[in-house]
Amino acid sequence: MSSVRAEIKSKLPKVGTTIFTTMSRLAEDHKAINLAQGFPEFDCSPDLQKLVDKYTRLGKNQYAPMAGVLPLREAISEKVFNATATEYHPETEITITSGATEALYVAISTVVHPGDEVIVFEPAYDSYVPAIALNGGVPVFVTLDPQYDKIDWEIVASRISEKTRAIVINTPHNPTGKVWTLEDLQNLTALAAGHDLIVISDEVYEHIIFDGRVHVSASSLPALAERTFVCGSFGKTFHTTGWKVGYCLAPKDLTAEFRKIHQYLVFSVVTPFQFALAEYLNEPEHYLKLSAFYETKRNLFVDAIKDVGLVIKASEGSFFQNVFYGNLSNENDFTLAKRLTIEAGVASIPVSSFYDKVVDYNVLRFCFAKNDDTLLRGAELIHKIIW
Ligand code: PMP
Ligand code: GLN
Repeated sequence: MSSVRAEIKSKLPKVGTTIFTTMSRLAEDHKAINLAQGFPEFDCSPDLQKLVDKYTRLGKNQYAPMAGVLPLREAISEKVFNATATEYHPETEITITSGATEALYVAISTVVHPGDEVIVFEPAYDSYVPAIALNGGVPVFVTLDPQYDKIDWEIVASRISEKTRAIVINTPHNPTGKVWTLEDLQNLTALAAGHDLIVISDEVYEHIIFDGRVHVSASSLPALAERTFVCGSFGKTFHTTGWKVGYCLAPKDLTAEFRKIHQYLVFSVVTPFQFALAEYLNEPEHYLKLSAFYETKRNLFVDAIKDVGLVIKASEGSFFQNVFYGNLSNENDFTLAKRLTIEAGVASIPVSSFYDKVVDYNVLRFCFAKNDDTLLRGAELIHKIIW
């Protein structure tokens, strides 16, 4: 198509296709095993599918209320109260969103005005920075090495200025698998209160946590909860990433502002799925077994690649395992991820793509939310590459 109109000025000049799409496409083109993009290979429970069918047949097919169907908000409120003893009122403090992606975008839009600075820990999930930029905000990075051993709170404090408005956190963390401790959240509480910051807490992997660790939600510390948007998702918890149903917990005044944006961005979220999730949530077994399920997969995968000679620090949570190959080669991680896909037939994500300034720490991320035979085949192929 030829056109005489002027080119539009991009609002996201630095953004291209996401690395997840790029690597999934490459995996497809080369018929490689896709351990790149994070999504489960297995289906959700047939019971959950039946519930969707039930509510579709019951005629729950028109717009849901803007904030989400009440039974789902009530079920989330009860679940959060049982885990943290914090009460979020279903009417005024819980909003159902189109995945955590929308919750994060709306939370950031709610608080960030042009020129505001937002602290972002990197490596960072890819949606935070564009959401900040689209609101005229400025991300200020706290760069952690991909082993992500310890958060240096003095460095975090040093990044705060009079323009800092908010801080984005993510635990369990994508891509490193790091889990924040109670002490981390206490440090964050003191810092956020001291500088009057709003916190946006991405907790989509809350139920995937290993080796006896416990997820410490920002909602569990009252002094933190009062200044935090907690963003969650059912995609990770129930193997339903394609449903895009998530939620946001926040105090009443923050929720009121959040909903002003949510109502004009999507208005409401897919109705029968919300009813189905509400009923399914009544049985805690449905999410409390998830950590053990994924811990077995993490162990299977780590065991199967342990003799390659990579440096592997077992993932603490999420369904990602990072491997450090710098002791074997110093090939650029993107080049290696491509070569591994094309030559060996297994796709991964180069972790440099989670940084603002592409820093190559020689780390690849593998997703282990796959069937055991896929993980074992993937591991076998990882042995085939010349590192
Ligand atoms: N945050 C993190 C850390 C993620 O890994 C993902 C997705 N994979 C999301 C948010 C987005 O969640 P959803 O698919 O529910 O939008
Ligand atoms: N969260 C997924 C990952 O980290 C990908 C989601 C997406 O493709 N946008 O792999």
